[in-house]
Amino acid sequence: MRIRFAPSPTGYLHIGNARTAMLNYLIKKKHNATLIIRVEDTDLERSTTESEQSILEDLRWLGIEWDEGPDRGGEYGPYRQSERFDIYKKYTEKLLSEEKAYYCYCTEEELHAMRQEASGQESFVYPGRCRNLSKEEREKHESHGRKPTVRFKTPPGERVVVEDLIKGKVVFGSENIGGDFIIVRSDGTPVYNYIVIIDDALMNISHVIRGEDHLSNTPKQILIARALNLPIPEYAHHALVLGPDRSKLSKRHGITSVQMYRKEGYLPNALLNYTSMLGWAAESGEEILSIADIVNQFEIKNLSASAAIFDFQKLRWMNGNYIRSYPLDKITELFIPYIEEAADLDNVQRDWLEDVISLIRGNCEVLSEIKNHIGLFLEEIIEPDTEADKLLKEDDSRKIISAAHNLIHASITEDTYITELIPSIKGETGLKGKKLFLPIRAILTGRLKGPELDRALALIGFEKFKKRIAFMYNRYVTK
Ligand code: GLU
Repeated sequence: MRIRFAPSPTGYLHIGNARTAMLNYLIKKKHNATLIIRVEDTDLERSTTESEQSILEDLRWLGIEWDEGPDRGGEYGPYRQSERFDIYKKYTEKLLSEEKAYYCYCTEEELHAMRQEASGQESFVYPGRCRNLSKEEREKHESHGRKPTVRFKTPPGERVVVEDLIKGKVVFGSENIGGDFIIVRSDGTPVYNYIVIIDDALMNISHVIRGEDHLSNTPKQILIARALNLPIPEYAHHALVLGPDRSKLSKRHGITSVQMYRKEGYLPNALLNYTSMLGWAAESGEEILSIADIVNQFEIKNLSASAAIFDFQKLRWMNGNYIRSYPLDKITELFIPYIEEAADLDNVQRDWLEDVISLIRGNCEVLSEIKNHIGLFLEEIIEPDTEADKLLKEDDSRKIISAAHNLIHASITEDTYITELIPSIKGETGLKGKKLFLPIRAILTGRLKGPELDRALALIGFEKFKKRIAFMYNRYVTK
């Protein structure tokens, strides 16, 4: 089994395309197939090397592995279409000489006029004006400097049946595919529908797994294959992923590029898990599955033929799960770059950082959220938020602040701070329960909610606590 993922390097890897890549990868793992990356860069104006690199990097980051491709070569290369123009040229010559294709000299303006004339028709079909030009007519056009396109002579009355592995049997008639379509543009570049099937054949692709937006292209590709006597692969067109309003997934719905997911701090496993399970469910109903489990349970034929809705919240939730369950040292490594965007970690002990992270990672659904929680442990003074400020202005809170202030200047030391501070404040003020703990939390953290108090107290440490008490004492007691 040989399969391929064929990105066009005209931008970042879109999450919908990443899903196609993942489905191919699952098939590779499941059936031990050879996965090929073929870069479809014939749109010379819009294709860039940067885009190719970033797509390959995103695929690697996702953990997708391939066997042949532009970066690693292989027996069936080159794997960039822009490096295969000589190959396509030979096929074009063959089609021309067998009169299965012809030069078309119609200019843009002429085609525009034909379109206008045909505006009553549902979609414009080229009327075949250049189908039977004589040699003299061709030479006349050439002498006027016209650069021809090459059109495929779509055979009339041919049936194309696609036994799609997901969609089932789909039947097309050659009269419905838009007439004699262009296979080579006037600048000499061949078009996607023409060369994709040549490459699939030459690269010995047995199965094409791609989005259903390509289903309507399939009959054109098959007609070309028939005309060139090339083998035709099996097809599986998966349903597309839509936004929550059932329209095409776009930026307006949320993040759509793998790049941005990386930046926000999604984990590759979470993204793989979520997107590769769009369109099917595990029998057990479990949603968090390792790649090995997904590969085990996944069958291409079980993919739903109708669109899947991308649930951004669910992906976040799933990512939070992965953040909580990663090994602590590994997740700490992943958090560090995000923390460094907000703070300096030079003098921070690794063990301490890991303890802090184990306490607060549960509050982060994406890695970048660590920035909202880490300041509590790294900064000297914490400004109370509105709710904490309100509470700290109350008499009971001021009593607690005074008691804490006196205690740290009298009996409480670095050694006794963790075990004795809270009982001593309780003894001094006579307050207990929420009335005791909430103001202490507000003094320590500037918030009314947050991580477990005892652990936070220990991790923040005596030195910082003293500074925070002094700050609160100035603000709420001496004023
Ligand atoms: N290059 C095409 C795209 O990015 C893929 C075509 C295919 O898989 O056949 O949509």
